[in-house]
Amino acid sequence: MKTANAANTASATNKGNASANRQLRRILEDKSTELRTHLRVPTVNNPMLHAIEDPYDSGDWAGKSHEEWIFLKKNSFDVAALREIEDALDRLRDGSYGTCMDCGISISRKRLEAVPWARYCVTCQERRQSGNN
Ligand SMILES: [Zn+2]
Repeated sequence: MKTANAANTASATNKGNASANRQLRRILEDKSTELRTHLRVPTVNNPMLHAIEDPYDSGDWAGKSHEEWIFLKKNSFDVAALREIEDALDRLRDGSYGTCMDCGISISRKRLEAVPWARYCVTCQERRQSGNN
């Protein structure tokens, strides 16, 4: 795809960004792993999971992505967070990471460090949150 070539060119010409993005990617991957672990393993620290009847034998979990997804859907908050993170990782892969999806400007490094999965610049995020979409 053309976007992949564009991303390669962009990262080759901007080494500073590429290494900063590598750092952010590691943060996102860690967070993703953490959320997946958290969602999959019922623990005393997660009262939400006690309310869920797990229809699946825990031994059958590994490798069953469909069943996993059904289970994940029940934990909508964490799932939403996980999806944000996965989307951010996708954007890192296709080179669109760090660009506001609304107005197209570069999201500030500071904001990305605070919210590595941010899709929008501060201005657009605030506009969305105030309900004016
Ligand atoms: Zn914006």
